[in-house]
Amino acid sequence: MFNAWLINDPSSDPGVYVKFKYRSEAALFDLGEIYRLQPRQILRVKHIFISHTHMDHFIGFDHLLRICLGRNMHISLFGPPGFRKNVEGKLAAYTWNLVRSYTNDFSLRVTEVSETQMTTTHYSCHSGFRPEPGITGRFNGILTDNNNFTVNAAFLDHKIPVLAFALKEQKHVNIMKNVLEDMDLPRGDWLVSLKDAVRRGDPDDVPIRVRWKGGEEKTVPLGELKKITRITGGQKISYIADAVYSSDNAQKIVTLTKNSDIIFIEAPFLEEDLETATEKYHLTARQAGYLAGMAGAKHIRIFHLSPKYKGLEYLLENEALEAFRSSLSGNSPA
Ligand SMILES: [Zn+2]
Repeated sequence: MFNAWLINDPSSDPGVYVKFKYRSEAALFDLGEIYRLQPRQILRVKHIFISHTHMDHFIGFDHLLRICLGRNMHISLFGPPGFRKNVEGKLAAYTWNLVRSYTNDFSLRVTEVSETQMTTTHYSCHSGFRPEPGITGRFNGILTDNNNFTVNAAFLDHKIPVLAFALKEQKHVNIMKNVLEDMDLPRGDWLVSLKDAVRRGDPDDVPIRVRWKGGEEKTVPLGELKKITRITGGQKISYIADAVYSSDNAQKIVTLTKNSDIIFIEAPFLEEDLETATEKYHLTARQAGYLAGMAGAKHIRIFHLSPKYKGLEYLLENEALEAFRSSLSGNSPA
């Protein structure tokens, strides 16, 4: 379970803070100015996903570095082609002769993603942030997959390749002990097989072997045992910035963000300024709303609003929401 919110107001630098509930851990999508975050919030960040390194999406790196240096912290960053050079350029701007003797090690694990490959380089304060080559592997649409969540990514066209992200929590299958007792079933290893079968979405007639300590066992169809389980988690959050509206981008966005609980999507321009939006390789509010609706998202949050609409942000909000509701109900854009 998580809470996710825009770090700044929707007209300011992009950035979404994702706080995982029940764990002192957070993730960031993009890293514009982050002065609005408390240091304690920044110190929770363990994963950072950068769409691209236009200045307004990455200028917060220095502030993050400043807050985290001297702490025992390890942060993973993911970004598009050229990303490691961008990070190295920022690190090269400072003198690091004293940090080697710090007791705590602050380190960065930076993964650069291309259409086919992911290459990781490690930078540790104990070695003065000298690049230490890591692993190279295939990029198959998944950036990270751990016990808690998976992050998928797709490349969008913004005149440069830009990464779009979808973070999905793993499903938790919980055992309701009171129901287990009511059914006179034993605790034990067989519950692991039951949980796996539920997590995989196996059909109801799949037999599950229930074992008692004394060696007795019987086979029960999965469907009958499902009432012992309760599924929690599995929330999905998507982040789309920046992209031109094209059929290729639209298809990738809808596929990546399908059934998101919330989609953060850029909407810099009104549809009446479609020509400007297209020239600048950005979405209009109407296109953003339409895409979020096509993805069947539960909620939409727009950001990256152009400063030209200062005081008129509600127009962008209204346009996006109207298109969102209309495409959710199956209407295509006029
Ligand atoms: Zn941008």
